[in-house]
Amino acid sequence: MRKNIVAGNWKMNNDLAQTNALIADLKNQEQTSNAEVMVAPTFTNLHQSFNALKDSKVEVIAQNMHFAENGAYTGEVSASMLKSVGVETVILGHSERRAYFNETDELLTKKVDAALANNIRVIFCFGEELADRKSNNHETVVKSQITNALFHLEASALQNIVLAYEPVWAIGTGETASPEQAQDMHKYIRQTLANKYDEKTANGISILYGGSVKPTNAKEIFSKPDVDGGLIGGAALKAEDFYAIVNAF
Ligand code: PEP
Repeated sequence: MRKNIVAGNWKMNNDLAQTNALIADLKNQEQTSNAEVMVAPTFTNLHQSFNALKDSKVEVIAQNMHFAENGAYTGEVSASMLKSVGVETVILGHSERRAYFNETDELLTKKVDAALANNIRVIFCFGEELADRKSNNHETVVKSQITNALFHLEASALQNIVLAYEPVWAIGTGETASPEQAQDMHKYIRQTLANKYDEKTANGISILYGGSVKPTNAKEIFSKPDVDGGLIGGAALKAEDFYAIVNAF
């Protein structure tokens, strides 16, 4: 059975004091759903966040990592470094990384392999741009992103992959894919996985939706059969809003 997951991506927000304050607010929230809850602070706040949340149900995850184990990669952080501060899940392929840091499918393949080799679960993000959707190419684009970065993996490795469909035109824009658009794409992704692997593998993988999920639209989006949760940006920065989304299942 695949899991429901709600992951908050805090991006490059919150210094240490602000992170501590947000974590204190999170700890005051009540969880009424069965979702797995995760938050992704910046690298500098991972250690502190892990310690502050280690007795809670909230998992602390990373926003990115390098593919190399160590060495001359100034400014980068490796899988083993993440593990050493308690991180067991990493977001890879976020559209902001692809757009602003030139992350390609080829690079992401290396990162995915490095994470899995270190027993780190991957939340793999992908999604089409507005022009792709307008030209009706969204499925082709998404299929190639998944194929290029993941389809070299054995079916068994997919147990450590969570997919996050994030249409670029809906991230941080206030514009959300309709619940039907999300469902159609998630169903297409699951079918693509079934074609490549098998039904059991496809049905076992959690597929999250990301793109302007808010307390007001989460319930309808999460009610769709192939939507297993959300990757949340802006609304994850307020504990009440984040838990309204967590509890929308
Ligand atoms: C994201 O950055 O992954 C995201 C979905 O952001 P937002 O919720 O702000 O659109």
